Amino acid sequence: MKKRVLVSGGAGYIGSHVTVELVNAGYDVLVADNMSNCDMTCFEGVKKITGKDDIPFECIDCCDDAAVQKLFSDYRIDAVIHFAAYKAVGESVAEPVKYYRNNLDSFLNILEASKTHGGCNVLFSSSATVYGETDELPVTENSPRKPATSPYGNTKQICEDILRDVVKASAVYEPMEQGASRNGQIKGIALRYFNPIGAHPSALIGELPRGVPNNLVPFITQTAIGKRECLSIFGNDYPTPDGTCLRDYIDVVDLAKAHVAAVARMLDGKMKESYEIFNIGTGRPVSVSELVTAFEKVNGLKLNYKYTPRRPGDVMAIWADPSLANEELGWTAERTVEETLASAWAWEKHLAENR
Ligand code: UDP
Repeated sequence: MKKRVLVSGGAGYIGSHVTVELVNAGYDVLVADNMSNCDMTCFEGVKKITGKDDIPFECIDCCDDAAVQKLFSDYRIDAVIHFAAYKAVGESVAEPVKYYRNNLDSFLNILEASKTHGGCNVLFSSSATVYGETDELPVTENSPRKPATSPYGNTKQICEDILRDVVKASAVYEPMEQGASRNGQIKGIALRYFNPIGAHPSALIGELPRGVPNNLVPFITQTAIGKRECLSIFGNDYPTPDGTCLRDYIDVVDLAKAHVAAVARMLDGKMKESYEIFNIGTGRPVSVSELVTAFEKVNGLKLNYKYTPRRPGDVMAIWADPSLANEELGWTAERTVEETLASAWAWEKHLAENR
């Protein structure tokens, strides 16, 4: 029987790319989303890309305990990928209660329903933000987590810890048989993403920021299309080779494939520990200036940008050591930064033509 994967937050940016790759890999996928930060554009795109227009979709809020329990009663769920969370760093600083309430409650409900329905394999969407202001570069999974620099980052740290504890508590049950997930046990993987960017090569799904984008690449593409006047590069006086910050930009389709590899590892009984953590990045630091130049070059255009003061809270440099994911998941980032930036631009143009 095909295994079914619940993707909470599956209509959003990363969730929609993951849904495509899961369907392509032969899984049954169930998408749950409360549409609080997206519309049906990406879910419609997923159906077009996969040629499957019967992917089940449940419009529920994972903070609604009863709705999550009902979901687990209505469907046999072998694994969950949990994306459903707020993700705007600045907003989380202004509205911490909203962030803690939403991001913790939704995950707790997923874990509780997993338990009451006989166990599950749970993949948590975490972030490199858990490393905070790190001085170990590149960061490995064993690099210490420094205090979070925002409530958003703190929710990622707390949810990782919750998953670790829940997995530990459930291990008192019989060891899980190959691929089985319903003997009471909860197994967990946290994937720590670096900076996901880009869009599906079809240009049918991509990032849909509401209002002014906080992240670099949507701001670049919106400036290029004329929605924004000028990109501000936040700080060119950092002690880095060109003075701008260094990040590890990971293509969203590559990132989606890492989820498929992690789900397969859980479902095929290949985990070495009941709770595992993997960095998902390229291992390649790219500066903000380099990214802007690469965008201009690959897409043959000139971007209007200026240097402005540093953005409070930004870390100077962070990039992954992805070797654990490379070895254990058999996964490696494949697309070049240029291919990814071309896909981001194709998506922005698709939006301009179709919305
Ligand atoms: N950045 C920038 N201008 C923008 C948005 C971001 O210069 O309009 C820089 C930001 O200072 C950081 C990098 O781009 O060095 C990536 O920022 P983003 O918000 O995309 O992700 P973060 O690394 O903060 O999670």
